[in-house]
Amino acid sequence: MTDCIFCKIVAGEIPSDRVHEGEQVIAFRDLNPQAPTHVLVIPRRHVATLEDLTPDDGDLLAEMFTVARKVAATDGIAERGYRTVFNCRDEGGQEVHHLHLHVLGGRQMTWPPG
Ligand code: 5GP
Ligand code: ZN
Repeated sequence: MTDCIFCKIVAGEIPSDRVHEGEQVIAFRDLNPQAPTHVLVIPRRHVATLEDLTPDDGDLLAEMFTVARKVAATDGIAERGYRTVFNCRDEGGQEVHHLHLHVLGGRQMTWPPG
C-alpha cells in the first residue's frame, strides 16, 4: 500500500523509534504517546483492520502479543501491568488503517476508555 503511513514505516521511508524487528512483525514507539510506554506492534504486511484478518492469521496474532510482552519486559512494566488495545474501524477509534496493537503502560490505566 503506497499511501499507507505504517507501510512506509515498515519500508524505512518514514523514520521510527523501533524497539523490535521480527520476520513478520515490527514494533516502534508512538509519535504521540499516551503513557510513559506507548508502543505500536504492527505486521510488516498491510492488513487494514482486525476485521481483515483470516483464520490463517493466528500465528501473526500470537507473534504480535508475544512482541507486546517482550516490550513490556524490556520497559520494566510487565510486573506492574499494562494494557494492549486494537482499535478497530470507525467506532473503535482507529485512525491509521494498518493493523496495530497498542502497548500502553508505566502509569495507572483507567476504565472505561474514552
Ligand atoms: P489508532 O488511533 O489508529 O488506533 O492509532 C494510531 C496511532 O498511530 C496513534 O496513537 C498515533 O499517535 C500513531 N501515529 C500516527 N502516525 C504516526 C507516525 O508517523 N509515527 C509513529 N511513531 N506513530 C504514529
Ligand atoms: Zn499499510
